[in-house]
Amino acid sequence: SQSLAERDPELYACMKDELERQQHEIELIASENIVSQAVMEAQGSVLTNKYAEGYPGRRYYGGCQHVDVAEQLAIDRATALFGCGFANVQPNSGSQANQGVFLALLKPGDTILGMDLASGGHLTHGAPPNMSGKWFNAVTYGVRDSDHLIDYDQVEALATEHRPKLIICGGSAYSRVIDFKRFREIADKVGAYLHVDMAHFAGLVAGEAHPSPFPHAHVATTTTHKTLRGPRGGMILTNDETLAKKFNSAIFPGLQGGPLMHVIAGKATAFGDCLQPEFKDYAAQVIENCKAMAQALVEAGYAVVSGGTDTHLALIDLSPKGVKGNAAEKALGRAYITCNKNGIPNDPEKFTVTSGIRVGSPAGTTRGFGPAEFREIGQLMAEVLDALVESPKGNAKVEASVRERVKELTARFPIYSHLSA
Ligand code: PLP
Repeated sequence: SQSLAERDPELYACMKDELERQQHEIELIASENIVSQAVMEAQGSVLTNKYAEGYPGRRYYGGCQHVDVAEQLAIDRATALFGCGFANVQPNSGSQANQGVFLALLKPGDTILGMDLASGGHLTHGAPPNMSGKWFNAVTYGVRDSDHLIDYDQVEALATEHRPKLIICGGSAYSRVIDFKRFREIADKVGAYLHVDMAHFAGLVAGEAHPSPFPHAHVATTTTHKTLRGPRGGMILTNDETLAKKFNSAIFPGLQGGPLMHVIAGKATAFGDCLQPEFKDYAAQVIENCKAMAQALVEAGYAVVSGGTDTHLALIDLSPKGVKGNAAEKALGRAYITCNKNGIPNDPEKFTVTSGIRVGSPAGTTRGFGPAEFREIGQLMAEVLDALVESPKGNAKVEASVRERVKELTARFPIYSHLSA
């Protein structure tokens, strides 16, 4: 038996480079986090060898007695965490969790109502290039021009006009708390199911820093790798036993084959962490940190879409200074600050250019940054961005100076030290 370094030095080298990138750079991508050593151990374990089609106690393969325990732990911890009756922890991704809901509740051609991509919705909520937009009659709602908030009266009007079978709320770049109760009232009025996709903010719900979709949602889906700080994957939650059975059949045998038991074990251990009292501190800190970073950018002359944030992410509008999102992403990257360009509501720029960037605090908070560090990060970003006002190519001197300060900051809050030994 050989180590990875001995067996495949070429692959090992790129993994080492990626480790160093994560150690030395500031990660602001709102959908990313830094998993624990325990989650990585679970994923890099012998559970990857096991076929376990079916569900705990009802498998199509022998030898599942131990992986049954792992999956049941994940289910029990998930239902405890979100205060709901049923969990399917097998979806391989957030997209597949959503597809499981669609397969269970819809037929091709049915009408769905979700938030449009340009306002912060996700591809799987009915965007034209996605299966959800191709196979369903997707109607979308947006945000109000005046304050960038969801216009619930517009949602109600669209629902009344189009009578969707499913209404989806939750998004990838919407930073405000959503009124789940109002959404359920609208769904009830037109006889639709309410699906809350809490992929982004599930960890904040778990940490009791954000309202829960339950009891309002008929179904909630989530990814497990964002604010929940688990392995890459998805999950479906509900309180309705009849729907739970439909979701189980939709995931297996409807969409997937053998579940990724090593990932499910990683989910179990991550959910165990989320049940600890410290996770409440983490969730509250994530929001405070994001507000501190956004505030520093506002003080430097940039705008925040909707005027602020209630969550782990903020959408920064660079247009007050005429800076473009693509140039910003690249310049910040050269300064070792990683984020993504993002369209703002009614963005006049193409989606490959954009007028905004999306920033988030989950990963930085995990490594120990507090509001003081996030304020400093906002100021460092502003230095890099201000240089783009002078030239879209940026200023190499400014970027080098910020890069050095980023290295100092990340060195004070080390991660994965055991892996560099
Ligand atoms: N739903 C929302 C709201 C998301 O933001 C994402 C991921 O960005 C997904 C679903 C899809 O998750 P995945 O990338 O695991 O397929």
